[in-house]
Amino acid sequence: MMLSNPFSTSSCSERVPSVLEAIGNTPLIRLEKASLDLNTEVWAKVEAFNPGASAKDRVAKYMIEQAERSGALKPGGTIIEATSGNTGYSLAMIAAVKGYHCVLTVTSKISQDKTNLLKAMGAEVVICPKDAKPTDPNSYYEKAKALAAEIPNSVYLNQNFNTDNMDAHYYSTAPEIWQQSEGMITHFVGSTGTGGTVSGIAKYLKEQKPEVQVIGVDAYGSVLTNYWKTGEYDPSLISSYRIEGTGKNIIPANLKRELIDHYEQVRDREAAFRTRELSEVEGLMMGYSSGANLQAVYQAAEAGMFSPNDFVVVIFHDHGSRYLGKVYSDAWMKEQGWM
Ligand code: PMP
Repeated sequence: MMLSNPFSTSSCSERVPSVLEAIGNTPLIRLEKASLDLNTEVWAKVEAFNPGASAKDRVAKYMIEQAERSGALKPGGTIIEATSGNTGYSLAMIAAVKGYHCVLTVTSKISQDKTNLLKAMGAEVVICPKDAKPTDPNSYYEKAKALAAEIPNSVYLNQNFNTDNMDAHYYSTAPEIWQQSEGMITHFVGSTGTGGTVSGIAKYLKEQKPEVQVIGVDAYGSVLTNYWKTGEYDPSLISSYRIEGTGKNIIPANLKRELIDHYEQVRDREAAFRTRELSEVEGLMMGYSSGANLQAVYQAAEAGMFSPNDFVVVIFHDHGSRYLGKVYSDAWMKEQGWM
């Protein structure tokens, strides 16, 4: 008797001309524990399945292609970006395939693992002080701008203010979620950094089904929740926190507050334990912001946002291998006073 191949999957059935065509079509995976605990369906869009191991592959690819189409990026040119790491890795990956140089400005908050990854992908990494105010010439934003002015044939992609970022999610991540949930989705939960993920996905989902509720996730120490509530930028709220990728100290143009129905702010400690729970219980080794998003799902449930027939989709932006020295390290957890 012929046995069917136990390893066959529908998503790996194609062959592709380069790594660029392997971006997207990530799985939607049911979270068993959260679904049971919360008595509602909780599913995760697991972006770690992208070749660059994060959702930023989609953004990097789309921003680069738009820059090529507009003529801003020419063959042999240099791509510059200010990034917390993931966008940088994706840009470096695509730059490698397409033959561009890639210069990334990052803050000193970045983990050594992430810096090594960027360099391994051939990028030049410029580390800037993590506490520099956004307008300070030493901040990673200002440094990226200055480099773009200095380097001939270069383009600063500026993921915070370039709305190709949210469009990338509008055109790729969101239709996938819509199809994979067969239109059953009732809530979408995601971290907001640049806001591109949540805004692009919210725009598409609400066009299909206006009653879909979108929950933004933020960190304490970020300005975004207050901006969503009041429309104001209040820099006095800025303080340092540990979660990477969630929250901002500026208001990015990709954050569309009118598309977000609710915000949950999460604490470093709770997000860290949820991150570890994901790998230990669901077998999903995800990044720190994924734990933040899962924590936000629990908080939203506590606030009474879900009912038993709901279909909640939470996005997991990146893979946990980038955080081995952080949330997955007992020594690091002890240093924070959490273990
Ligand atoms: N999680 C991680 C790990 C990220 O790198 C980012 C991007 N900064 C986000 C969440 C937030 O995504 P977005 O920038 O689209 O708001």
